Amino acid sequence: MQDVVEKVYEQVVARNRGEVEFHQAVHEVLESLDPVIAKHPHYAEGALLERIVEPERQIMFRIPWVDDAGQVHVNRGFRIEFNSALGPYKGGLRFHPSVNAGIIKFLGFEQIFKNALTAQGIGGGKGGSDFDPHGRSDAEVMRFCQSFMTELQRHIGPSTDVPAGDIGVGGREIGYLFGQYKRIRNSYDAGVLTGKGLAWGGSLVRTEATGYGAVLFAQSMLSTKGESLEGKKVIVSGAGNVAIYAIEKAQQLGATPITFSDSSGYVVDEAGVDLDLLKQVKEVERGRVADYVERRPGARLVTGGSVWDVPGDVALPCATQNELDGDAAATLLRNGCGVVSEGANMPSTPEAVEAFQKAGILFGPGKAANAGGVATSALEMEQNAGRTRWDFATAEAKLTDIMADIHDSCVAAADEYGRPGDYVLGANAAGFTRVADVMIAHGIV
Ligand code: NDP
Repeated sequence: MQDVVEKVYEQVVARNRGEVEFHQAVHEVLESLDPVIAKHPHYAEGALLERIVEPERQIMFRIPWVDDAGQVHVNRGFRIEFNSALGPYKGGLRFHPSVNAGIIKFLGFEQIFKNALTAQGIGGGKGGSDFDPHGRSDAEVMRFCQSFMTELQRHIGPSTDVPAGDIGVGGREIGYLFGQYKRIRNSYDAGVLTGKGLAWGGSLVRTEATGYGAVLFAQSMLSTKGESLEGKKVIVSGAGNVAIYAIEKAQQLGATPITFSDSSGYVVDEAGVDLDLLKQVKEVERGRVADYVERRPGARLVTGGSVWDVPGDVALPCATQNELDGDAAATLLRNGCGVVSEGANMPSTPEAVEAFQKAGILFGPGKAANAGGVATSALEMEQNAGRTRWDFATAEAKLTDIMADIHDSCVAAADEYGRPGDYVLGANAAGFTRVADVMIAHGIV
């Protein structure tokens, strides 16, 4: 790293002690900026780098709620409004016991550049809570969401900050959150949340968008080598929203996904994942991956080791951050994997990314590859603002175009800074310069 960039990183570490995921995300972006700053030194002036790594606003709050047995719980809520240069803060809410300020900051920081890549006029933010929805009744989840929104509502709005879902927050939670927002504000601001139900302002394709987008990004990367997903064996991690629709799109494009996972283990189904059964187990019954194996002859559940031990041509990490480390990367490469497209946010550790880049395989970083979700959220906002609704084909065509644009922007930026095929540099440089140019135009704010 150049001195000027290194100093900014050191300040981030000193100011945000112990927030290791945030340090990791900042390091990855700043490291990519060396050739950008070398070519355009004005990006290091006016403390622009120091400003971009500091959230505009950080909100942290208490969420008291009562469980079905009458016991009171207290969780912690977060909303990091990171950067509004390009538009209202936009980014999901995560409900998971591991959530803390550092995790939300890393996600919010990534979101700035991801949203810039979509070219849809959305700033970056993220939020969530250390609440664990697993095993909670609908009524408990509803009471928690209502308490969460009782505080959050004063900070958000269709032109201010527009949250969506993430791990642990799907259509059910967005419904409860919206209901409470509407009750307190006495205002049917459909554009205040995305990922809504189709009957009350949601967009077709939003549910599918992140997983579809990650696969479309893999297909675009392959097309630069004259190849496609047709006939390829795909290793997928996760069994949530992103994983399920990554599997669906991969199947549509002629590939064969053979794995998925959750925190209890991973499933290998050499015949190809039975998507209807997986949706039934995870979306309808909210079950565990073991429930799939019980009903699917030939599929096996593995509770030790790593899903990345399974040989395949393409890897789609779709669970969580740092789920694919250096050893897993080495195993994937040894087994002949030639494409990694990140459906999750920062699922590959720095060691894994380095291994993929050294090996020269196609590696699509999350902030580009999984941007289809937020892009379709922006399409949902557009439909809400216009009081209109597009059919599935229209929304999917827009998503496909946006993913192709993001891919091409990454390729162009990587070429411009002398590292053809480096999608990490390409995504960071293209996203950063779009935000930085507007921050300069807005003055010191
Ligand atoms: P879901 O909650 O729908 O699913 C998450 C899946 O990952 C579950 O199967 C979960 O298993 C598994 N998982 C989560 N944490 C862990 C962990 N610590 N160890 C092992 N498995 C884990 O979330 P999404 O599918 O929405 O999100 C997945 C990833 O994609 C996240 O990184 C998210 O930030 C990213 N993303 C999501 C977008 C979206 O539109 N939803 C947009 C862009 C990125 P279990 O149930 O056992 O916890």
